[in-house]
Amino acid sequence: MSAEHSSTSKGVVIVGAGLAGWHVIDAIRAKDKDIPITLITADSGDRYHKPMLTMAISQNKRASDLVRATGSDAAKAANVNLLANTQVSDIDAASQQLHLVSATRSDPANVDYATIGYDKLVLAMGAHPIFPQSLPEDLVWHVNHIERFGQLQEKLATGNQHVAIVGAGMVGTEIAEDLLKAGHEVTLIDLNDAPLSQMLPPKATARIAQAVKSQGINFLGGYQVSDVMRISDSDNDNESTSSHDKLQVDYKPIAGADSTADQQPEPLIVDHVIASTGLTVDDKLPAAAGVEFNRRTGIVVDATTLRTNASNIYAIGDCMSINGVACRYVAPLRAQAATIADDILGHEHEGYEHKPPMIRLKNKAISVMATGVPQATGNWQVKTETDDELIMDLLDDNNDVSATVTIKAPVTPKG
Ligand SMILES: Cc1cc2nc3c(=O)[nH]c(=O)nc-3n(C[C@H](O)[C@H](O)[C@H](O)COP(=O)(O)OP(=O)(O)OC[C@H]3O[C@@H](n4cnc5c(N)ncnc54)[C@H](O)[C@@H]3O)c2cc1C
Repeated sequence: MSAEHSSTSKGVVIVGAGLAGWHVIDAIRAKDKDIPITLITADSGDRYHKPMLTMAISQNKRASDLVRATGSDAAKAANVNLLANTQVSDIDAASQQLHLVSATRSDPANVDYATIGYDKLVLAMGAHPIFPQSLPEDLVWHVNHIERFGQLQEKLATGNQHVAIVGAGMVGTEIAEDLLKAGHEVTLIDLNDAPLSQMLPPKATARIAQAVKSQGINFLGGYQVSDVMRISDSDNDNESTSSHDKLQVDYKPIAGADSTADQQPEPLIVDHVIASTGLTVDDKLPAAAGVEFNRRTGIVVDATTLRTNASNIYAIGDCMSINGVACRYVAPLRAQAATIADDILGHEHEGYEHKPPMIRLKNKAISVMATGVPQATGNWQVKTETDDELIMDLLDDNNDVSATVTIKAPVTPKG
């Protein structure tokens, strides 16, 4: 693309206004103030820092308090054409065109209302929460987007409630502590005996389970949720006239798991259920564009240029994977965006070099940090083990360290 950007230039089109999409805009604008950029996003395009969603409720912050700039203000400041509340429904990679529908209408009449061409396309459309069959999407919350978070926050702000969180990965474990600190009763349920069990070895996760439980979170490890259903207030509390329905959560022990009960437990009656059971990338747009894609890890990109296998299409953020590994963290986005910007603008660049970010659990009851690419299974070796500290290395086949986890008891304030 020429530096002068001819008036017929379709410019750069970015799909998705999460941290990834906005990082690409910042990186391009740092080097080129004029190249036409269109940002298409299914939401309002508001800029916010997603990691705050697992810290905000205890700080009594509403969704609007987390917005750093509205989509329209941010777009104006960056000289970007923002198409908010607009969903990309199809990509024609041969003619370099996108089909658009309204993101706010779901009726069958919501057919393509526009097409837009691109010279360069950046897919930054994130990943969306997985809802297992036992967790019906219309009854269960997630905290993967500020809009849904805002609706949950409003409900929880009405008084202390009982919340069941299904899935004790990082997001589930963090939001459990946040809700507890906000005064809610919290039950955290996981298939495994301890939180973070898909990432760390049992010796490490046992400490996390201990910390979470002693803090007052009701951790149910080794259980599977089998059903969530609405029960009306009248079934539950004849005195009440409020319209607030409760939810019944049925759950059962996993065969062979070390759960404390081996019989069918009594169902939980809760006010809300939050699913934090993982993320998946929608295959519709990658398939339409003919972009190489893996259902589990997302869009495949070249590790040094972040180009997909389709001409003039890049991918960044939660929707893409590098060397077969999804990297759903904030820290690498800046360098990834800078590489995409250089590549799009035709600047010489050294290529992106992926370094796995430091992973830090935001809980205060225990400090958990990991470097490298931690995974539950493998040759984990203890380096330090005291009451207050556990350090373990994951060794690869050559006995090189591929990950390290450091777990520390929190420093309790004196006095
Ligand atoms: C609760 C929580 C806490 C986290 N904490 C941390 C942390 O402490 N540290 C850390 O490093 N990472 C953390 N993460 C991960 C990190 O926030 C994400 O990796 C990052 O925000 C992903 O950004 P993204 O732009 O790729 O995706 P998203 O934020 O999901 O944005 C995707 C965008 O694409 C739009 N979109 C999707 N499909 C379409 C379509 N078809 N057409 C148009 N627009 C579309 C959406 O509307 C949205 O604007 C956390 C994640 C969560 C959920």
